Amino acid sequence: MTITKTEIYKYSIPMVPFTIATGTMHYAQNIFIRIYTDEDLTGVGECSAFPMITGETQATCFAMAKDFALLWKDKDALAIEVRMDELHAFAVHNNTAKSAFDMALHDINAQHAALPLYKFLGGTNKKQLLTDVTVGINKPAQMAAAAKRFVEQGVSILKIKLGKNVQHDINAINLIAGKVGDTIKLRVDANQGWSYDEAVHVLTALKDFNIEFCEQPMRSYNDHLLPMLKQTSPVKIMADESVFDHHDAVRLIEADACDYVNIKFAKSGGILEAKKINIVCEKANIKCMMGGMLESRVALTAFAHFATAFDNIYFYDMDTCMLGHKIDSVIGGVRYNNFCVELPDAIGIGADIDETFLNTLEKVVI
Ligand code: MG
Repeated sequence: MTITKTEIYKYSIPMVPFTIATGTMHYAQNIFIRIYTDEDLTGVGECSAFPMITGETQATCFAMAKDFALLWKDKDALAIEVRMDELHAFAVHNNTAKSAFDMALHDINAQHAALPLYKFLGGTNKKQLLTDVTVGINKPAQMAAAAKRFVEQGVSILKIKLGKNVQHDINAINLIAGKVGDTIKLRVDANQGWSYDEAVHVLTALKDFNIEFCEQPMRSYNDHLLPMLKQTSPVKIMADESVFDHHDAVRLIEADACDYVNIKFAKSGGILEAKKINIVCEKANIKCMMGGMLESRVALTAFAHFATAFDNIYFYDMDTCMLGHKIDSVIGGVRYNNFCVELPDAIGIGADIDETFLNTLEKVVI
C-alpha cells in the first residue's frame, strides 16, 4: 500500500493560559496530518509541541513534517518500522513531529487489519481509563479553589503542578488537601523545578498527604541523584522528562532511580517506541502512566487505544483537552464520561477533524 500524499496543518487551539514550572502556554501548538494511500485508506496523526519539555515548537514540527512527508511519498504505508527508521536516520530528536507520522501509520495499519487500534496493538478488552485532572500553577488559594471546583464536578484524582517555589508548593498542597479532604488522590508534578535539596524538603513535608507519586522532581541532568532521592522520599517518584525512549527507561531502571514512568508520544516519537518503553518497564515491575501535552481528542483517542492495549499502562493523565481548550473540532474519537475516557468502536483510531475547521488553518500538501 503506497503513500500518495500527506496533508499537514498548523492545528492551533486557543486556550485558557496554562502554567507549569517552566512557563505558560497560551495556545496548543499542535500539528495535524493526514496520510493518504492508493488503497483508499487515510490515516490521521496529531502532535502537540511543548517547547519547554521537548525543544520543539509548532513551527519546527511543521517544517520537519514537510521533510518527513517528502521522505515517505510513494513508500509502503504498511512497513511502520522501516518508515520510522527513515525518519530517525534523517533527523535525531524531533520526537513530537515524528509522533504524528507514527500515529497516522498506525491508524492506516489498524484500518487495513479492520481492527480498532487497541486490538491491532494486541489488546483484547476495553478498560476503564479514569483520568486525573490537572491544576496549573497559580497562587495557592486559587489552586485550592480550582481543586475544589474540580472535585465538586466529580474528579477523584487531582494532578497538581508544583516546582516554582518550595514554600509555595508546600502551602499549595496544604490548602488543596484542606479543601478537598484526604479521600481525593493527589499526584504532584514538579516538572524539573526543584534542586535535590528542595525535592527532599518538599517531598518530606508532603509525607502525610494522600499523594500517589511525584513526577519529575529535578532536571534530567540530575538523574544521577534520583536513586538517592527515591531512597529518601516518602512519596513515590515517577520519571517523566527523564524518559524519552526505552534506553532512558533502561538507564533509570538499572540505577533503581524511579518507581514509575510517564509515557508520552510527544517524547517517544510515537507508539512504536512507546511500546518498547512499556516492555522494559513491565519487565522491571515499573507501572507506566499514559500522559500527553496539549493534544486534542484526535491524539487523545490514540492515547486511549494505547493505554487500553497494555495492562502495564496503569495510570491515566489524559485530561489534555480539558486543560482549557476553547474549541473542539474533532469528529468521533473518545468522549469523557465522568472523567473516564471512553473509546469509540470504530476501526483504526476512529477520530478526525471537521473539514470546515481545517479549511481555516495554514496547510501544505506533499
Ligand atoms: Mg509531567
